[in-house]
Amino acid sequence: MEIVENLIKISENIPENVSLIAVSKTKSKNLIELAYNHGQRDFGENKVQELVEKYNSLQKDINWHMIGHLQRNKVKQIAPFVYLIHSVDSYRLLIEINKQGFKNGRIINVLVQIDISKDNTKFGFTYAEFDELIKLNKLKDLKNINLKGMMGMASFSSDLSIIEREFNQLNDFYNKHKTNLNLNILSMGMSGDYKIAIKCNSNMIRLGSTIFGTRIK
Ligand SMILES: *Cc1c(COP(=O)(O)O)cnc(C)c1O
Repeated sequence: MEIVENLIKISENIPENVSLIAVSKTKSKNLIELAYNHGQRDFGENKVQELVEKYNSLQKDINWHMIGHLQRNKVKQIAPFVYLIHSVDSYRLLIEINKQGFKNGRIINVLVQIDISKDNTKFGFTYAEFDELIKLNKLKDLKNINLKGMMGMASFSSDLSIIEREFNQLNDFYNKHKTNLNLNILSMGMSGDYKIAIKCNSNMIRLGSTIFGTRIK
């Protein structure tokens, strides 16, 4: 029942315009159902196989968010049902999602992941790479994707000012492109930094451990 208490506490403390994605990676179907029965409908996973298994065995009105690195050869497995892909980090991946969207008769919602951190482990477009993509108008023929916004992960740091700076930079970049590209989602913030992210204008937070407890894997 702790899960429900956590959800209530979080939703009481975030602004109404901020969507909460419950990151359920490594967590069992039973735990997801506790959150579902409380009314949570948006769940995030970072592995294709786990996402597909959970999609198949859980309620069909769940919105499944793909938040982890996505390999092109696995797009076809999630294309029939995925609600939003947060982690699009290359033009080649965009092309593949567009192709699989077409095959499935769907327009697939995506965010581009921007590499905002100083950790070299994170994926994503650099600011310059994304600017170039837009300058060259490379999205215009991709009729089966809908670019809804941007996602970023801050550096793992105990220095909150570093995190805040990275989130603010992404917010500035989002604002620069927002009107032209008709964007409305800025996905920033995990359990450790979502309060900072919301201060920096995030309207979609991805929380795992704050809801479901720490992960052992
Ligand atoms: C695991 C994960 C989260 C959630 O992490 P917590 O620290 O447990 O809240 C958010 N975003 C992405 C991309 C993740 O992989």
